[in-house]
Formats: sequence, C-alpha cells, structure tokens
Amino acid sequence: MISEQMAALVSGNGAIRAMFEEGSRLAALYGRENVFDFSLGNPNFPAPADVRRAIVETLDGEDSVLVHGYMSNAGYADVRGDVARSLNGRFGTAFGENNIIMSVGAAGGLNVVLKTLLNPGDEVVVFAPYFVEYGNYVKNYGGKLIVVPPDTEYFMPNAQRLKAALTPRTKAVIVNSPNNPTGVVYSEETIKGIAAVLEEARCEHGADIYIISDEPYRELVYDGAVVPYITKFYPNTIVCYSWSKSLSLPGERIGYIVVPSEAQDYSLVYDAACIATRVLGFVNAPSLMQRAAAKCLGANVDTDAYDRNRRRLYEGLKSLGFSCVFPSGAFYLWMQSPLPDAEFAEAAKKQNILLVPGISFGCPGYARLAYCVSPDTVERSLPAFARLASECF
Ligand code: PLP
Repeated sequence: MISEQMAALVSGNGAIRAMFEEGSRLAALYGRENVFDFSLGNPNFPAPADVRRAIVETLDGEDSVLVHGYMSNAGYADVRGDVARSLNGRFGTAFGENNIIMSVGAAGGLNVVLKTLLNPGDEVVVFAPYFVEYGNYVKNYGGKLIVVPPDTEYFMPNAQRLKAALTPRTKAVIVNSPNNPTGVVYSEETIKGIAAVLEEARCEHGADIYIISDEPYRELVYDGAVVPYITKFYPNTIVCYSWSKSLSLPGERIGYIVVPSEAQDYSLVYDAACIATRVLGFVNAPSLMQRAAAKCLGANVDTDAYDRNRRRLYEGLKSLGFSCVFPSGAFYLWMQSPLPDAEFAEAAKKQNILLVPGISFGCPGYARLAYCVSPDTVERSLPAFARLASECF
C-alpha cells in the first residue's frame, strides 16, 4: 500500500501533466499540427550550439574518470568557482566556490533548501499565482504553505499583504521572478518592499526569515528588463538557479544554489544543504552537465524567438478581445479567463487549445499559456482562439 501522502497526490495528479497527456491524445486524433499545446513549460527551441560543443569538448578533453565520477556533494570545486566568478562579474556580488552548491535543476535546489531549513509546522510564504509544485515541495518536509492573495493589478508581490501573512513560524518566503505563470519581472522597488517587511518582522518576531529566490527564468527577459539580484537587497536570500530554460536543457537536470556568506547561519546552512543533497538521494548534480554548464556561462537560448512568440500571441489575443498581462520575462502569457476556469479550459480544449487554468496556480479567473512552442503553433492557433473568443464573448 502506498503512503497516504502519495495517495492524495495520485488522486489529484497534476493538472499540468494531465493536460500534457491530453495533448498526446488529441495529437493522435487530429494530427500534431492541429493541436495547440500551450500547457507545459518544455522549451521547444534548441539548446545553443555552445552546449553541444561543451559536452563534446568535455568528453573528448577531460579525464573520463573525473567526468563521470562522484565528487563532493556540493559539486566540482572548479565549476563552483567558475559559477561564482560569473555571478560576480554580472551582478557585482562577491561569491566564492563555498557559496555555491550544484543542484539537480531548480526543483532539486528548492527541495535541498527546504529540507535544510524546515522543521515540521514551519511556514513558507508564496505569492499567488505561484508555481504549483511549491505546495508539494514544502509538504515534503512537513512545512505549511501560506499563500498571499494576488495583486491582480500588476501581479507584483504586495508587501502589505506579505506583512499580514507573516507569523513567528514563518521560515521562508519564495520569490520567483521572472514569474511563472504571469511573466512579470519584479521591480527593484518590489524587492526592496519585501526586504523592508521581512526586516521589520525580524525585529518584531526575533526570527530571521529567508528569501528563497527561484530563478529558472532569470535570463529570459525582453525589452531590456532588469531582474534585480536579490542577495544585494536582502542578504538572507538563498538562490535556486537552473539552466533548464536559459540553455533549453530541462531534461538534463542541472542548476545551482547560492548561499551568501551574509545569510543567517551561513556555514551551517551551506553544510546542511550539501548533506541534504546527499540524503535526498541526489548525491551530487549530474557530473557531465556540471562541467559542460561551466563552459557555457556566457551562453543563452535565443530569446528573440521567444520574443516573437510573445508579441504575436499577445497581440493576436488582444485583438480578439482577450485580456492578458504583457509579459516582460519567462515564456508564459497570463490571460484573464472570460469563463469560469474549468469551463474555459474545456471550451479551449474543444478548439484543440491546451492551457492551464489559473486555479492550478492558486489564482482562479485566469489561465496560463506557455508560448515556448514553435512559431508555427502560435500562428496556426490564432484562428482556433478566434473560434474560442466567439464562444466566450
Ligand atoms: N520553478 C519554477 C517557477 C518553474 O517554472 C520550474 C519549471 O518549470 C521549476 C522551478 C523547476 O525547474 P527545473 O527544471 O530547473 O527543476
């Protein structure tokens, strides 16, 4: 018999995954080109050429025992050093190899950090709408997810609402910018506002609250949007970065955690996170990908291609009467749902459009479209959206 916790997960098995499976079913019925699957954030654009070169170079040029072997749980020291220097060059930080832990993507990083920080009953605050897996990750360690209601005007975290959500049990606040599902990039003012509220809470409750900055979309920004580096505004920040999206490598499971020396209990947190990497069964981040990623620190996926999709889809939907947030980052379009969530998803499905209802992100009344699809899919979807609009308005 499986555990009660897993039984609950099996019966509620992720709306996003279910939608993905629905995509395969519809594709078999109508042909892949006639299904407009905007449900999953699985990049459809190839990894930059540098990635292949780096993998081949690593395999050809380095000692194969070193390339495929175990290393310290934190990851290769030279790779961590390279990551730290790259961050310092870009953001004016002062990290060293002992501030970096290589991780199994952002998901692995988040689990390591939550395992490191949480006692049962500790509270982790998120801002709606939020990445649906946060709830599961927090529950993995007996934590309690506290959801700050959305500010539907700009979809920026609202510092006053955050303040109302903090208690003496608050251990961490998860911040995700560029944001999944809204595509909003949090401004420096917003980050400063969050930092001020957490500082106030520290004075009031006497307990430090960590920010966990979940950053798989840091590099995916448009029109010169700037993503503030949060450790500079709130030193008690632990960053979970991933190359899944910036290098189109989601299946390779590679990222890193940053624990700044200024974070509360830095040494303990760093050591515990290394041990968490081990005891969660990751042992270490994938060795070949660590070495390859270190050779690609300046590389990035072609954001122009995402940008073209972003503009085409946004303009197309707007002209049909849908109301959407114009995204500054990530590859998601957040639209107001003209019908109740489930009804809208069902009506979209009838037009072979797959989207994720806002309720899956703790924000009913909206829907998410992942536009990391081929430009052809965007183009061909517009007549289907037109038919959907005529049903809704
Ligand atoms: N956090 C957010 C907000 C995401 O959207 C995702 C993946 O879509 C993840 C974390 C997990 O990313 P990774 O593939 O790096 O584990």
